[in-house]
Amino acid sequence: MPKKIKKIGVMTSGGDSPGMNAAIRSVVRACTYYRIDCIGIYRGYQGLIEGDFIPLGPRDVSGLINKGGTMLKSARSKEFRTKAGRKKAHEQLVKAEIDAMIVIGGDGSFTGAMVFNKEYKYPVIGIPGTIDNDIFGTQFTLGYDTALNTVVDAIDKIRDTASSHNRLFFVEVMGRDAGFIALNAGIGAGAEEILIPEEDLGLDRMLQSLQRSKRSGKSSSIVVVAEGDKTGKNVFELAEYVEQNMPEYEVRVSVLGHMQRGGSPSCFDRVLASRMGVKAIELILDNKSNLMVGINDNLITVTEMEKAVKGSLDVNKELIRVSDIMSI
Ligand code: ATP
Repeated sequence: MPKKIKKIGVMTSGGDSPGMNAAIRSVVRACTYYRIDCIGIYRGYQGLIEGDFIPLGPRDVSGLINKGGTMLKSARSKEFRTKAGRKKAHEQLVKAEIDAMIVIGGDGSFTGAMVFNKEYKYPVIGIPGTIDNDIFGTQFTLGYDTALNTVVDAIDKIRDTASSHNRLFFVEVMGRDAGFIALNAGIGAGAEEILIPEEDLGLDRMLQSLQRSKRSGKSSSIVVVAEGDKTGKNVFELAEYVEQNMPEYEVRVSVLGHMQRGGSPSCFDRVLASRMGVKAIELILDNKSNLMVGINDNLITVTEMEKAVKGSLDVNKELIRVSDIMSI
């Protein structure tokens, strides 16, 4: 006979992303709706090990939907990677009578949840929260849409100054392994070139493209570079390379950095977080575990956590083609 769920825990883990707060709010209110207790776990797995908990009711999450970051704080925990650390975590959950756990985070956080489930048969459900959009089984992760808008807004501003001075700007955006932010924000902000980890366009091709842009009358250019791009050069080396080969351009570099993770979540991320939080609670009440909530074709879907972690993502070739045509 499946266990009756009376109390659940919710945590945010790994890198924070806009929309995590909206997801916490959704989980808390869905708990109230279904008459179960909700406990907030501070600082991800580290707070879990330390028993850093707070009971959360519907009014505790008032005014939260529009806030960036996460009210529960996030952390990376070395201790949770050890058996001894996970044993402490399990003891804390038993002591606080928490029957199941919702983990809002990225693939590392889901891997931790799966390891924990395997050792203790403890029910875990994942909500994908990361700006990188690099999780298999969902077309959108929480925070990605907001980060795209933040990056587009920043590049728009950079373009204003670039076009006033005949400058070429290299703009580095987040994405060590995935070029989703670079590709989409690059197209959205009208970048001339977009360098991503999934495709090696080659330095020569980039130069040719910039030279062609110059000949066709462009006075300024923006090149968007994902952190993990394949040219083998970092953004400053890329700038130096172009400056040497195209002395007619004044080249500048802008690294957007952590501002991409911040800010009030977009309406899309708020709605997504609200839908995912409700689904996560319904899965737990259905005695499900090791699943990640996702969104595909605007329907809330469910993927095995293992697939979410191991599945490989393809870059959208159509976007690369559109970007090429737009840079004419
Ligand atoms: P981001 O998108 O920012 O990378 P993430 O969830 O992938 O988010 P990680 O730092 O990779 O972030 O993982 C978060 C935490 O999950 C780790 O600090 C660790 O406590 C736990 N974790 C990750 N992998 C494992 C593992 N193999 N075993 C146990 N715990 C793990």
